Amino acid sequence: MRNSVLCYLEESVEKFPEKVALSDLQNDYTFSQWKSMALCIANAIIEKTNEKKVPVLVYLPKSAMTLISFVGVLYSGNYYTPTDVKFPFEKVNSIIKCLIPKVIITDKKHGKFLLDNGVNESKLINVDEIDFTIEHKNDELLNSSIIDTDLAYVFFTSGSTGVPKGVAITHRSIIDYIDWAGEKFSVTCDTRIANQAPFYFDNSILDIYLCMSKGAHLYITPEMYFAFTAKLLNYLRENEINFIFWVPSALINVANSGLLEQIDCSCIKKVLFCGEVMPNRHLNYWRKILPDALFANLYGPTEITDVCSYYIVDREFEDDEPLPIGFACNNTQIMLLNSENSLITESDEMGELCVRGTSLSMGYYNNPDKTEEAFVQNPLNNHYAEKIYRTGDLAHYNQYGEIMFDGRKDFQIKHLGYRIELGEIETAILSIEAVYNA
Ligand code: AMP
Repeated sequence: MRNSVLCYLEESVEKFPEKVALSDLQNDYTFSQWKSMALCIANAIIEKTNEKKVPVLVYLPKSAMTLISFVGVLYSGNYYTPTDVKFPFEKVNSIIKCLIPKVIITDKKHGKFLLDNGVNESKLINVDEIDFTIEHKNDELLNSSIIDTDLAYVFFTSGSTGVPKGVAITHRSIIDYIDWAGEKFSVTCDTRIANQAPFYFDNSILDIYLCMSKGAHLYITPEMYFAFTAKLLNYLRENEINFIFWVPSALINVANSGLLEQIDCSCIKKVLFCGEVMPNRHLNYWRKILPDALFANLYGPTEITDVCSYYIVDREFEDDEPLPIGFACNNTQIMLLNSENSLITESDEMGELCVRGTSLSMGYYNNPDKTEEAFVQNPLNNHYAEKIYRTGDLAHYNQYGEIMFDGRKDFQIKHLGYRIELGEIETAILSIEAVYNA
């Protein structure tokens, strides 16, 4: 039994030591290099702190080094939180205040930015100063008593009061998700994945850990290519990408450009998407150009480890029809609860989508109040303690028994696939002295 996601990497290093695992624009890294470099980072962390199960912030530009750092954090027996180096410092600082990281992994340039903003130098590890030629043994590190209910990462999402919420996810939840996805979408060592999701956004979990578990090849697509569709499509074609998992906004942009007709991307065999509503008009364009590809609508919030339902597109849809979010993933139950907290079974009755299963987060980091609001006792079980997550999403069953997404109960929106609580924006605006009300 795998007690941590590191088992995935150990297995792939055994099977495919010299196969390229990660590519960014600068470099390629094999599975062996991923591991050996991660062990160097783990060692640097252990030199800073003897503590285990403590948070480590990773403050690096999106690159293979970020993923090497994540694994380094895990080998050190700790958990990681990624932040975007393009976030304003106020946002980074609010994450630091909640997380209280013991160590921050960064590079020379971004380390200077943190220091200039008052971050304590003693916490920083600069990857530019690590000697990656040194070989470190992992026996001691692997035996650092990680068990699968330990945290692997904390991802911060928008909070309605202006304070971001840190969603804490365990190794077990990732393994549960990745084992399901690897099988459902027949991922193998021949799969070539072009990543779109930023590494602080949970869609990236699928890309990273499918690559790690199956010996697939992960291409870290430069973020700016998503603003230049021709460049993006040529990159997919040249690298013979056969698997993508993007937010609908990215797929919509490509459809609107019409460039799929001019640049041959027939190498793409699987198109998965998640994070917001995918309009059938744009999906139909993709389906017309790639008639043999598999298309799947995945649904889920960060709090249940990215995805809890899926729909593999298996019939024709009109441009103005909604696309189902389908059925619960393996080892997951989705419950639609009405306002009396009773289970909805009839089609067409709308209720709140609630989730039960191993995928559930351990709650919001250092935030028991918010945790209690969203992670509640299963109202259908009054015999023993059992948490469900109330997503705040509304949904109903259609005539085929598929779940249909109907929008939100609250003021959370999606912008380019990113989750934003409008309350966060209101709070920020109201903090400006010249503003009377928002
Ligand atoms: P996040 O935590 O950033 O992944 O955002 C989760 C929220 O995005 C969900 O609660 C939904 O409101 C929305 N969402 C995710 N996937 C889908 C989808 N396939 N269709 C419609 N909305 C989605």
